[in-house]
Amino acid sequence: MTIKPAREGTGIVFVRTDQAGQEIPARIDNVVDCHFATTIGKGQCRVSTIEHIMAAFSGMGIDNARVEIDGPEVPALDGSAGAYVVLFRKAGLKVQDRARRYIEILEEVSFTNGDKKVTLSPAKDFFVDFTIDFDHPAIKAQRFRKKINRQTFEKSIASARTFGFLKEVDMLHKNGLALGASLDNAVVIGAECVLNSEGLRFRDEFVRHKVLDLIGDLYLLGAPLKARVKAVKSGHELHCNLMKFLAECPSAWRFSGSESGYCDRVTKWGYPVTAPGLGLAASF
Ligand SMILES: [Zn+2]
Repeated sequence: MTIKPAREGTGIVFVRTDQAGQEIPARIDNVVDCHFATTIGKGQCRVSTIEHIMAAFSGMGIDNARVEIDGPEVPALDGSAGAYVVLFRKAGLKVQDRARRYIEILEEVSFTNGDKKVTLSPAKDFFVDFTIDFDHPAIKAQRFRKKINRQTFEKSIASARTFGFLKEVDMLHKNGLALGASLDNAVVIGAECVLNSEGLRFRDEFVRHKVLDLIGDLYLLGAPLKARVKAVKSGHELHCNLMKFLAECPSAWRFSGSESGYCDRVTKWGYPVTAPGLGLAASF
């Protein structure tokens, strides 16, 4: 996988270099599966498990990039978005010549499935409030609430790893799935406790990873969000259903080109202009 710069207005586009260069824009209308991971596609051509790299683009404020990939799945790396942050910082980010467009939520929108729920409500910035509740002694109930910007993403969310239960990994392996899953790219939870010898990166790493997934999924709206997002036990499927629902509620949102929030961030990075962008070629 190679990540390359892209012009203003491109958005995030995946390119299957092994499939005649088929381009798949990372947008909700191209989502073809969201059960275990988020998969986008066009025709027979797919790219799966895009949520962690999408979270890195969102969290780092990157609007435009081409992700060239010669296979159907984004590399798992260590199960988090930490490596992307390191590589994006190394490669550098470039401010581009167009004002940034945000999605502003104008009225509350919710999507519910059983005891799972995700709600978007109006806010000046991007806030996430996520609650999980697993009937397992290693996880139990966890809640994470924070305003999300580049600083909080890098410090509190990017390195939180995906997690799975050992009994589920065994079942997936029997069905030929998740064959690459190991203690190197996930937190694996046994009957009582975490099996990784190094332990957890955060006491509440599980809910932080759910926040990472949520941020990545929501970036499929095609622009950064100004909203308060309250999620309870939600996952990729609910996030995608909410975004599709939002697309059908034109009165609930609008695009806006507000500068204030972003200018604060770019000023800290020493950039003199108002729109962000990408000037990097990071390879994996
Ligand atoms: Zn994940």
